[in-house]
Amino acid sequence: MFVYLDNSATTKPYNEAVDVMTTVLKEDFGNPSSLHTLGITAEKYIKNARKSLATSLGASEDEVFFTSCGTEADNMAIMGAAVARKHQGKKIITTAVEHPAILEPCRKLQQMGYEVEYIGVDSKCRLNMDQLEAAIDEDTVLISVMGVNNETGTIMPLKEIIQLKDKFNKEHGTSILMHTDAVQAFGKVPVNVKGDLKGVDMISVSGHKIHGPKGIGGIYVKKGLAIPAFIVGGGQEGHMRSGTENTAGIAGFGKAMDIAFGDFEGRIDAMAKAKARLYEAITSDIKDIVVNSPEDAAPSVLNVSFLGTRGEVLLHTLEQDGIFVSTGSACSSNKKGQSHVLGAMGLKHKEIEGAIRFSFSEFNTEEEMDYVADRVKFAVTKFRKLGSFR
Ligand code: PLP
Repeated sequence: MFVYLDNSATTKPYNEAVDVMTTVLKEDFGNPSSLHTLGITAEKYIKNARKSLATSLGASEDEVFFTSCGTEADNMAIMGAAVARKHQGKKIITTAVEHPAILEPCRKLQQMGYEVEYIGVDSKCRLNMDQLEAAIDEDTVLISVMGVNNETGTIMPLKEIIQLKDKFNKEHGTSILMHTDAVQAFGKVPVNVKGDLKGVDMISVSGHKIHGPKGIGGIYVKKGLAIPAFIVGGGQEGHMRSGTENTAGIAGFGKAMDIAFGDFEGRIDAMAKAKARLYEAITSDIKDIVVNSPEDAAPSVLNVSFLGTRGEVLLHTLEQDGIFVSTGSACSSNKKGQSHVLGAMGLKHKEIEGAIRFSFSEFNTEEEMDYVADRVKFAVTKFRKLGSFR
């Protein structure tokens, strides 16, 4: 059996997304800026995809821009906010459990004299809202909090954070911006600027987490907010991000959004069913485990520590059975080191060492989950015997 449970690292592109990309690469390969029919045809793919991105976020088309990946969108938001608000203050508030795509630009800003406060989390990766509220001051220019954590699936209370920000701005006459890295939230939980995210200023998304291609992302920038462009040149993407457009990637991302948001509920339901089945089987059948994801996490992630084992060894044992999982964040620049997220959650060394992240897509079935639970139990038992655990 082949069971792919590493969907937070990346998803398998929808066939339809691959098909449209192939057509763009083979036939509709014109430069979208060219005036002839090939150019106009290429431009249409971008227009359609922009419409899909705007619609899925509840935004208007002139508020969304394609980038080369989620990381670029995150960098644009952090650095852009710092530059746009440079006369207003030098403090940024983020969390200790962000992706490196946020943490690294924040570190760069610290080197440039900014103060960055990293808000802590509890053992289920839930944000310390008291610390966050206390951190907001008149020197703050940006709050950046992810929508869904990539390692635990914890859903962050963005609505409440936006309310705190709006209240502070109103009372103090400040103009603090709010950004969310929605790379793991987009297509898994509602991410809508007319809904719960009303009042957000910037949102980052990525194509390959929702069955689109890798190397394409997007950013929402609220109308009227002037953040500077970092890649300047031919003025593509409304001068926000120059460079001849990755038309195939944009078209594939657009198609993926059309499919994913065309049946949002159905997809979520399928993920939730698979996750519930695996959760049930693992928690009832295997002793000495710690579930690191909160009960109300996104349906896409289940993080479990199997005490007395090493996640990395489990991962490779499961791989031999055709099961693909992760020990933590695959996108981490610090692949060999321990997860900074599980560390920030205060997990003990042995809990971090035995942690496995199962991450789901709508293609996972309950039958697959029974197989996975069986193989996990076998691997954990074998490993514990070898290591004389208990
Ligand atoms: N933000 C989060 C939360 C992620 O999980 C990832 C990728 O894993 C990224 C940002 C980076 O996105 P991309 O791979 O498109 O650069």
